[in-house]
Amino acid sequence: PRILIGSATCGRAAGSLEVMAAFAAELAKQGLTESVDVVEVGCLGMCYAEVLVEIRGRDGKRVLYQSVEPRHVEALVDAQLVRGEVFAPLALAVMNDTDETVPAFTDLPMIQPQVRIVLRNCGIIDPTNIDHYLAQGGYSGMARAFSLGPEQVIEEMKASGLRGRGGAGFPTGVKWGFARSSVADQKYVICNADEGDPGAFMDRSVLEGDPHAVLEGLLIAGYAIGATVGYVYCRAEYPLAIERLQDAIAQMREQGFLGANILGSGFDFDIKIKKGAGAFVCGEETSLMQSIEGKRGMPLSKPPFPAVSGLFGKPTNINNVETLAAVSAIMEKGAAWYAGFGTEKSRGTKTFALAGKITRTGLIEVPMGIRLRTIIDEVGGGVLGGKPFKAVQTGGPSGGCIPAQFIDLEVDYEHLASVGSIMGSGGMIVIDAESCMVDMARYFLTFTENESCGKCVPCRMGTQHLLRILTGITQGKGTLDQLDTLRKIGDTMKSASLCGLGQTAANPVLTTLQYFEEEYRAHIEDHK
Ligand code: SF4
Repeated sequence: PRILIGSATCGRAAGSLEVMAAFAAELAKQGLTESVDVVEVGCLGMCYAEVLVEIRGRDGKRVLYQSVEPRHVEALVDAQLVRGEVFAPLALAVMNDTDETVPAFTDLPMIQPQVRIVLRNCGIIDPTNIDHYLAQGGYSGMARAFSLGPEQVIEEMKASGLRGRGGAGFPTGVKWGFARSSVADQKYVICNADEGDPGAFMDRSVLEGDPHAVLEGLLIAGYAIGATVGYVYCRAEYPLAIERLQDAIAQMREQGFLGANILGSGFDFDIKIKKGAGAFVCGEETSLMQSIEGKRGMPLSKPPFPAVSGLFGKPTNINNVETLAAVSAIMEKGAAWYAGFGTEKSRGTKTFALAGKITRTGLIEVPMGIRLRTIIDEVGGGVLGGKPFKAVQTGGPSGGCIPAQFIDLEVDYEHLASVGSIMGSGGMIVIDAESCMVDMARYFLTFTENESCGKCVPCRMGTQHLLRILTGITQGKGTLDQLDTLRKIGDTMKSASLCGLGQTAANPVLTTLQYFEEEYRAHIEDHK
């Protein structure tokens, strides 16, 4: 018997450590401490139902319980571990079976449309134990990469159709090819774990729930391009993710997966962690590298591109957490398997942090091309409180608001761009009919204005002007001619800013103006 308790940061915030302590005390009281393991696992993605506890009984039945509090623990232990019965009041799903009264996990409306590749192990394995990862097929992707050789690994990545999940969507295999073809005495690979979008927690969850999947992907990337050192650049606000990474790196070293001549492959590789101080702009690759070098994190002009001259002036490849977790799965199961999911131009799956006015908040992974309606209505269970759906903000502060008229839009890079938004790294904030779109745009502008590094004028001054005008409008001091001024400033920022932050910061304003201009007008005209 075993008790698995979802204890990523989200579970801990909901009280998972208190629940764990209550289980330890109850098992001791019942004399079951020796026979029942209590294991901390990552997040299953059903954040709305935390604290989540899976109990594996003596009969092998695995039952997932939701909203568990310390006061429920005595009854749970008594029911499933002493009497061998499901504790019906909190039972959410059966993980490995069907039951007349409790649905199978894979049949849950939130889970059924999902395809869990990046999140394959989150909430299922103990992230602190490499044996759990190995038992799920972990590091067989690395072994396969060694048997194929670097060139073939890059071909495999191209064939998979994987595109960078950090936001830009550039083909991963092509990017690796550029870095491989650069000749240098030293090359680097970097995992960008500087997730900074408000409302986004995809990378944190993967690092906390399955760090080896990401580190294996980083090692494979290093092997493919010929790098000997990998960095994980992770924001210091993610202390549990950093702890999980540190433990995982130590275990890799013990297993001989890091160091010289790994498993006799002739490949030397090591991984270092660099903590970022939480500047949003350090998610941009050139500022991220500046930050690793100990300099102030500010973007540089490109070219030169990192594949030619990156970290410490050496050829460097940067991928984000989700991309690398997909890499390890692709190398294990093959390019054709991965390319079987998604659409022609956007292969595979995408994780989204589903938040805002939605019934079931959480971390989801869906095949590319899924309809927005399926995500909102089925996976998310509809708008909170049954209110009408108004819009969804995708891509975080760099993204745009997609109005209800596009509810049947396919979610992939091309279709999101066609309505003025972006995939971004995967924030998805649902907005109901009672939310004000001008407030929404102002909220994101407050963030980007604060995070603008100030290096270039269009972004530094543009974000300030936009915010000043938006604040005036929300305070009833706006004028109608300012709507054109907002558009002009936004268009200038798009075309003239140095980096992605400034190029996209006006998106929330431009898309809300495009689809909800009447709300701006109402703010202005109601105060005439
Ligand atoms: Fe800095 Fe903004 Fe210019 Fe980027 S666009 S370099 S964040 S001022």
